[in-house]
Amino acid sequence: MKVSFPVTKTTTPRQKPNPRELVFGTIFSDHMFEMSYSPQKEWHDGKIVPYGPIMLEPSTAVFHYGQEMFEGLKAYKADDGRILLFRPEKNADRINVTNERMCIPTVDPELMVEAIRQVVTVDQDWIPEADDTSLYIRPFIIATDPYLGVRPSKTFKLYIILSPVGPYYKGGLAPTKILVEDKYVRAIIGGTGYAKVGGNYAASLKAQEEAIKKGYSQVLWLDGIERSYVEEIGTSNAFFKIDGEIFTSPLTGTILPGITRDSVLQLLKHWGENVTEKRFTIQEVYEAHASGKLDEVFATGTAAVISPVGELCWKDQVITINNNEIGDISRKLYDEINAIQRGRTTDTFGWVVEV
Ligand SMILES: *Cc1c(COP(=O)(O)O)cnc(C)c1O
Repeated sequence: MKVSFPVTKTTTPRQKPNPRELVFGTIFSDHMFEMSYSPQKEWHDGKIVPYGPIMLEPSTAVFHYGQEMFEGLKAYKADDGRILLFRPEKNADRINVTNERMCIPTVDPELMVEAIRQVVTVDQDWIPEADDTSLYIRPFIIATDPYLGVRPSKTFKLYIILSPVGPYYKGGLAPTKILVEDKYVRAIIGGTGYAKVGGNYAASLKAQEEAIKKGYSQVLWLDGIERSYVEEIGTSNAFFKIDGEIFTSPLTGTILPGITRDSVLQLLKHWGENVTEKRFTIQEVYEAHASGKLDEVFATGTAAVISPVGELCWKDQVITINNNEIGDISRKLYDEINAIQRGRTTDTFGWVVEV
C-alpha cells in the first residue's frame, strides 16, 4: 500500500521509561495516529500527531451510549533490530467484525495495518528491548456526533495509541487464581460477546472487583443461560487439558475470537496434540479434577500470551490444578509463541510481519 500519512512531530519528546519498571498500560509514546469519518468523505485525514488530550463536546455520542470499539496487539524488537508485528491482519479483520455489530463503518484492513506500521515506525524508539517487554498497540474508534439521541453516530474518530509494556502479570508466567463466576454474566447469544467493545468490560467490572476482594485475579465466565458451560477467563480465552485431551469453547457468538486462541489451536494441531473446540461444563471440569484427570488450565490473550491457572474456586469449592505449577503445554506454548513473536525461531505459519 502506497499511502503515506503526514507526520507532525512532537516538540516536547518525553523521557523513555526504565524497561525494568514497566507496568501494563500506564505510559504512552510520543505520537498517535488519528483518522476521521464522515458520511461524505468516509474515512479521511489519516495522520500521525503528538500524543495528547482529545477535545470533544460533552454531548459526544460515545460518552452516553457507548458506541465504540477497540483492538489490541503488540510490536516486538527482534534481536537483529527488526520490528515485528504478530498477525496484524487478523486484528484488522476483527475490527470490521466488531464494527459491523456496533454500526461503525468498516475500515480497509490494508489501510489499518499500514496506519499501525507507520505510527509504530515513528515511535520505534519506544519499543522496549528487554525480554518480556513489547510495545502494546491500542487502536480504537469512538462515535463523535454531538447528539443526545439513541441512533448510530454519523461521524467517528479512529485513534492508535502506543504503550511500552512489561509482563502483564508480575512474575511473568506464574499460575493465577481464578474465581468461577456464577452470579454475573458477560455475554449471551445475540449480544456483543464476540465484539471487542468497552461495554462488555464495563459490564464485567463488578464481577472482577468482587473476585479481587476474595483474593482472585480474574473470573472465569460461564454461559449466560445455564451458568454451566465454560466460556472465557477475564480478558482471555480459556483452555483445559483433561485426560490428555485439550478443550476450548467454540466461537458461538458469546466468546471473543482471540488471535492468541487461534494461534494456540494451530500450534497444538501442528504438534499432534488432541485438541477440540467443544462446549463443556464446569461440572465436567470439577469431575475431571476429582478423578485426577484435570491436567492443565490456561488462558490465552495478547497481553499475557499464556497464563496458567493454578487454582479455581466455584461455589466455594476450591481446586488446585497441576500442583499450582506451570504445566508442560502452557510452558511450551508460551516459549514457542514468544520465540515466533520475537523472530527467534522459524515462523512456519507466516504469522510475523516486519514493519
Ligand atoms: C481481546 C480479548 C481476548 C483475547 O484476544 P487476543 O486476540 O488473543 O488478544 C479474549 N477475550 C476477550 C474478552 C478479549 O477482549
